[in-house]
Amino acid sequence: MTKTAIFSNNLFLEHMKNFDHLESASRLRVIYDELDKPEIAAGFIFPAFQAAGAEIIKLNHQPAYIKQLADTAGQSFVSLDADTQTSAQSYDAACLAVGAAVTAARMVVAGEVDNAFCLVRPPGHHAEVDKAMGFCLFNNAALAAQFAIHELGLQRVLIVDWDLHHGNGTQHSFYDSDNVLYFSTHQYPCYPGSGAAAEVGSGRGAGYTINVPLPAGLDDLAFATIYNDLLSAVARQYQPELIIVSAGYDIHRDDPLGGMMVTEAGFAYMTKILLELAAECGSPFMACLEGGYDLNGLKNGVMATLNEMRGYSTLTDKTIMNFTMNSMPIMAMEETRSVAKKFWKL
Ligand SMILES: [Zn+2]
Repeated sequence: MTKTAIFSNNLFLEHMKNFDHLESASRLRVIYDELDKPEIAAGFIFPAFQAAGAEIIKLNHQPAYIKQLADTAGQSFVSLDADTQTSAQSYDAACLAVGAAVTAARMVVAGEVDNAFCLVRPPGHHAEVDKAMGFCLFNNAALAAQFAIHELGLQRVLIVDWDLHHGNGTQHSFYDSDNVLYFSTHQYPCYPGSGAAAEVGSGRGAGYTINVPLPAGLDDLAFATIYNDLLSAVARQYQPELIIVSAGYDIHRDDPLGGMMVTEAGFAYMTKILLELAAECGSPFMACLEGGYDLNGLKNGVMATLNEMRGYSTLTDKTIMNFTMNSMPIMAMEETRSVAKKFWKL
């Protein structure tokens, strides 16, 4: 039986609990309620984990910023930017989210579990080295990668970001590094404004940032095309030692923020492609929750991902055939290909 680990904790529900915010505790509540059902819980393991300390968090964040966030602890409300606020327990929740991400990385790399999903909040991919941004405090996925590189000795980590928004924080953390290949699909133009195809990395990192800025309205087949074509080609050449997904469900067709048309089948299929690439490269696999603001779309998308991870696919043979045999022309992907061609055989 596949051992799929879920990192969950009720402390994640305390962040901004009593405030009316799009990135609400209800997002995790609906997922946790589903996972609390005994017949579903039985399919997963729920490892214990602890909050990360500053010595871990500073692998990706400046000490002055860590202190700024630590100072919000116990304060009922602090506004960090127009979108990003903290409540009394936000700092503790953020440190625990990082603890989940690095524990997941350690466990999947050690082979203690087959794969892992950190169902945490606050999310992370907008968080910069020195500031909070876009509902994000610490960058959980970036910290999992930093931990894998600096503490576990890995040299090639692939971060795939399918959130609606560009993961500016993750991109910037590794912009001049070839230790992380950052591959992002995102609606464009859209918040936060970064993520043009021409942003490819710099210095040693040139070619190791791949942005696919997409128009709104793309569906499962479009994402399947990008994953089967561009992403698979690059991943095979990179041979990652760890794959981390920044899993945002705001590309779901019902999401109030996004204009994408992805369904549960699309999330399942993207997960399936990544799991197959992971198996082919001998790479461990983990995911960190990012956005997703339609509660049903979020819950169902997460469950579709989790069911792929634990080997109980919800995809029919017909759907798999459709997504595998067919493709659609995507102008934005061709733009990215023409830029990435300088660095990869495409
Ligand atoms: Zn998002």
